Amino acid sequence: MGQYVLVVNAGSSSLKYRLVDPVSGDTPGGGLVEQIGEPAGRLKHVMADGGRHTDEGAFPTFEGALQAAAQAFDQHGPSLRDVDLVAVGHRVVHGGERFAQPTLVDDDVVAAIAELVPLAPLHNPGNLKGIEVCRRLFPDVAHVAVFDTAFHQTMPPVAFTYAVPAAWRDEHMIRRYGFHGTSHGFVAGAAARLLGRDPQDTNLVVLHLGNGASATAVRRGVSVDTSMGLTPLEGLVMGTRSGDVDPAVHAHLHRQLGWPLDDIDHALNHDSGLKGLCGHNDSRKVEELMARGDAAAALAFDVFCYRIRKYVGAYYAVLGEVDAVVFTAGIGERSPLTRAAALSGLERLGIAVDEARNTGPIDGPTVISPDDSEVAVLVVPTDEEWEIARQALSLVGP
Ligand code: ADP
Repeated sequence: MGQYVLVVNAGSSSLKYRLVDPVSGDTPGGGLVEQIGEPAGRLKHVMADGGRHTDEGAFPTFEGALQAAAQAFDQHGPSLRDVDLVAVGHRVVHGGERFAQPTLVDDDVVAAIAELVPLAPLHNPGNLKGIEVCRRLFPDVAHVAVFDTAFHQTMPPVAFTYAVPAAWRDEHMIRRYGFHGTSHGFVAGAAARLLGRDPQDTNLVVLHLGNGASATAVRRGVSVDTSMGLTPLEGLVMGTRSGDVDPAVHAHLHRQLGWPLDDIDHALNHDSGLKGLCGHNDSRKVEELMARGDAAAALAFDVFCYRIRKYVGAYYAVLGEVDAVVFTAGIGERSPLTRAAALSGLERLGIAVDEARNTGPIDGPTVISPDDSEVAVLVVPTDEEWEIARQALSLVGP
C-alpha cells in the first residue's frame, strides 16, 4: 500500500473525512458524521467498493465522532493504524492575508487561525475543533492546514480592495478574500492539462456552481479576481445565499422594520438564493418545477443564469483574452440546461456550447464547445479532498 493523507473537513456540527492516495486520488474509504453534539446523530461510511455502513447514534463530541470514523476504518478496512498515513490535511475556510500556502500546523498556526475567527465566525471555529481533536488522536502525524482563501491571495489590490474608509481596511481587514480556492486551483490545473497548455500560459473563467457558487478569473494560472468577498455571501446566486445585493439592504430593513441585523444576515445566507426565489435550493427540483411551468422556478433559474453570464462578461473584460470557460461542482458538472442558458448569447465573445457535447456523458474533464470555437467551454469535475491531499503531501513528502 502507498502513502495516504486523511483529509478532514470539520464544520460547526459535522465532520467529513476521506482517506486519499495523494498521487492517484483513489480513496479506500471516507464518510460523514452529522449532528455532532445533538441527542441523535449519524455516521455514514463509504467503502472503496461503494458499500455503505450507517451508524445511527449520538456523537456528543468531535473527539467521539473522529474515534467512530477511525473505528469504521478498522471494521471495513483499511485500519488507519495499518496504512502509511503521511499527513492529516485540514480544510480551513479563512486564512486571511497570512496564509497563501498550505501550512504545517503548530501552536502558532492554531492561534493565527483562531485570530481569524471574526472574519469567518460560522466556519473557522469548527475547522479549529477538527484540528485540535485530530492533533490529539494522531499525535505522530504531520497536520497540514489548506485554506479556501489561499488560491486568491494572488489577486491584485485593484481587485481585492473595497472602496471603504481606510480604517475599515487597515484596522478591520475589510477586503475581498474569495473562497472555494482549493476547487478553483484544482480545476484550473486540470483545465490547462485538458487544453494541452502550460497553466502559466492559460487564462480561464472558472465557474464553481454547487450549493455555494463562485466565479474566478484566472490569468496565467493564478487568481486575479473572484466573486466571493469578505465572506462567501457575495457574488453569484446560490442555493440559499443571495449573492450580490445592494449593501444598503441591511440598513433599509433594519431602519424601516426594526429587524435585527443578525436576522437579516441569516436570511441572506439561508433563506435567499434559489430557495428565496422559488422555495427550493436544489437545482434539480428547480429544473423539474420549471419543466412543469412553475413561474417562480423559471424566474429563479433565469436569475441564477443571468448572474453567471454577467460575471463571465466582467471577467472576460478583466482578462482581455480567455482560453476557456470552465464549469465545475454539482450544478456545473451535472446541469446541461444551466451551462447552455448561462452562456447563451455570448457567440460574439467567441463563447458557444455544442448541444450534443453539452448533453452527452461527462465522465471526466470534457470539452463541450464546438471544435472551431475561439474560447473553449469545459466541464471539469472538482475534487477538493484530492487537492488538499496533494498539497499536504507537497509539504511533508520526500
Ligand atoms: P456543495 O457546495 O454542498 O459541495 P455540490 O457541489 O455537491 O455542493 O453541489 C450540490 C448541488 O448540485 C445540489 O444542491 C444540486 O443543486 C446540484 N445538482 C446535483 N446533481 C444535479 C443534477 N443532476 N442536475 C442539476 N443539479 C444538480
